[in-house]
Amino acid sequence: MTGLMQGKRGLIMGVANNHSIAWGIAASLAKQGAELAFTYQGEALQKRVEPLANSIGSSLLLPCDVEDIASVDAVFEELAATWGTIDFLVHAIAYSDKNELKGRYADTSRDNFTRTMVISCFSFTEIAKRAAALMPHGGSIVTLTYGGSTRVMPNYNVMGVAKAALEASVRYLASDFGPQGVRVNAISAGPVRTLAGAGIADARLMFNYQRSHAPLRRTVSIEEVGGSALYLLSDLSTGVTGDIHFVDSGYNIISMPHPEALKA
Ligand code: NAD
Repeated sequence: MTGLMQGKRGLIMGVANNHSIAWGIAASLAKQGAELAFTYQGEALQKRVEPLANSIGSSLLLPCDVEDIASVDAVFEELAATWGTIDFLVHAIAYSDKNELKGRYADTSRDNFTRTMVISCFSFTEIAKRAAALMPHGGSIVTLTYGGSTRVMPNYNVMGVAKAALEASVRYLASDFGPQGVRVNAISAGPVRTLAGAGIADARLMFNYQRSHAPLRRTVSIEEVGGSALYLLSDLSTGVTGDIHFVDSGYNIISMPHPEALKA
């Protein structure tokens, strides 16, 4: 299967390095012929993102910190000037103070609650609005979420609240942009070892627990998330919008782990 994304152009936001989920998605899209632009957050990450972008023939690399709305506007102005329109967008951005990704949710500070919500949730609304404006013939937008949005995961805390709001945003944005043929979906990925993932206390424990208790008895790779994103961003899924699609080895369906998994 090649060429599924031939003739399609899109923006990938959230690559920090070659372990990033956004990179797994970018690689699967590039393999299918997509033309990609990337954003990076700050000069330190530019050094990591630039060679990755070059490796798949992308030369459109733009700085963007979603806390600075002028930098978000500049990205979409540049895309409008260079490409005119886009076909898809990936938002794989989240942040919270790691001192609050441990202990009790009840102890979240007002400042970090606000910052987490702006970066990890509201940025998606601001970006989707600008992306949809560049999709006059329809398009597809995907963000990344985690099952801590609907069920309590120790230490995930304020990020779980932000992901719940992000998932609600997916549904409202899908409704807003549906009439113009723009689809909005989220992938709820199982735990992956990335920079952001490492910020959560006891991340390794959570990773191992999900690996041993998920129906597939393993965690997922960024390539597997990339495969599902390819489906959601391509014409294979033209009837799908407002969905939260789990790519988590089936962990989300489990109530009590199988006795054999408990013994392992
Ligand atoms: P990552 O650290 O590779 O990527 C996070 C990205 O967010 C980085 O590129 C970082 O630059 C960007 N970012 C943070 N603050 C930003 C800001 N102010 N402006 C612009 N960019 C900013 O980690 P990842 O795990 O690949 O995370 C990508 C997405 O996947 C996140 O939304 C995360 O919550 C989600 N997710 C991760 C896991 C996991 O276990 N790693 C599981 C489910 C969902």
